[in-house]
Amino acid sequence: MENWSPQERLLIDHATELASILRGSLAANWCASGESARHYLKLAAERGLTGIEVPQAWGGSQASFSCKAAIAEILAGADFGFAMSLINTHNVANNIARWMSGPGTRVGQAELADELLPKLLSAEIVACTALTEPQAGSDFSAISTLATKVDSGWKIDGEKSWIINAQYADLILVYAQTLPQSGAAGIAGILVDARREGFERCDNFPSTAAASLGTGGFKLNGYVATPVEMMHPAGTAFKRALQSINGARIYVAAMCCGMVADCLRIATDYGGRRTTFGVPLNEHQGWRWRIAEAAVDLEAATQLVRAACKAMDRDLPVVALAAKAKVFATRMAERHTAAMLHAMGAHGLRDEYPFVRHMTGAQIASFTDGSTEMMLERIFKDETLVR
Ligand SMILES: Cc1cc2nc3c(=O)[nH]c(=O)nc-3n(C[C@H](O)[C@H](O)[C@H](O)COP(=O)(O)OP(=O)(O)OC[C@H]3O[C@@H](n4cnc5c(N)ncnc54)[C@H](O)[C@@H]3O)c2cc1C
Repeated sequence: MENWSPQERLLIDHATELASILRGSLAANWCASGESARHYLKLAAERGLTGIEVPQAWGGSQASFSCKAAIAEILAGADFGFAMSLINTHNVANNIARWMSGPGTRVGQAELADELLPKLLSAEIVACTALTEPQAGSDFSAISTLATKVDSGWKIDGEKSWIINAQYADLILVYAQTLPQSGAAGIAGILVDARREGFERCDNFPSTAAASLGTGGFKLNGYVATPVEMMHPAGTAFKRALQSINGARIYVAAMCCGMVADCLRIATDYGGRRTTFGVPLNEHQGWRWRIAEAAVDLEAATQLVRAACKAMDRDLPVVALAAKAKVFATRMAERHTAAMLHAMGAHGLRDEYPFVRHMTGAQIASFTDGSTEMMLERIFKDETLVR
């Protein structure tokens, strides 16, 4: 058992309650509209879940990374898409609180943080983070969205795709190149207001199984960001983005555990009720072993995720551990969400069950925040490859 603070315990209880609301109300019938997503994000906000890690001074709970990962796991057990959507808007709020206030920030940034944070924490506005482009996914340093310095700030031109929440988000942390041909060194992170001129949504990803992710794209045509909206200047942005991606790899791994645990619970219950050849399914050894194998891998993935969470909380080196947790947990979820569906027979395909959504979630988890192949490259390069 984790040693949660009372505040963290409360957040986890709230997440458990919200997961049960989600299970009861959305299940297969998630409505892909922005209004529907905003409704559930507001329920999360009312429970403090939009400000998990945000400092208390800004109205958040200042909870640990482990607590955020536990909440991600609980919510993904109900719906991976919603969990990702919530954590993505939360992360932008946390970035603003961390990088746009205090020493070293530019004039006007604390005022902007003052304006944006209450709106993000109440889910009046929703945010997301955009790195990926139609021509650049795994190779983040190859992005071509261009931010050019102009008198009034930064003029941004380019296109982003496959961005969670982009179908309806109000505020987007956009990564752009400020110095063509400079690779990682020239990349900056700039806040973009989706309601301003020069912003146009496009390339939505219509998928019933992943509707709650609100995934889409957008174009920036001569969009002008003010100097205050430059959150991560060139020289800092790439490093900070990779830091937060390490965290993302761990909570995505935690989400995979949440999805497999949900599948396992449902299949185990079903195995006691469904009869074949005169006995319940769980009396067939061949059927039971499938369930036991999922339980073994889930336990191993959970331990790896917890170790990575602890390293994050203690500020220890986490790059390889985060990558290992993500590879193991996503593969585990890809394998066992499908295996648990199979264990249910044809009934597992019914929309009232979450197996197809969880299978899609597992596949998406293997792409987001670094694909499995990119993780393996990272792990191979690590000096602690063999302990
Ligand atoms: C539903 C969904 C939501 C997403 N949300 C976001 C978001 O919110 N923000 C955001 O910025 N991005 C987001 N992404 C994008 C995600 O980060 C990318 O899909 C991921 O980085 C992979 O990029 P790609 O899809 O362009 O694949 P590519 O980079 O084109 O790679 C294609 C395939 O080749 C493999 N590959 C590539 N290079 C190598 C290599 N050197 N060696 C071996 N194999 C290789 C990859 O692993 C992959 O399997 C999302 C993606 C999905 C599917």
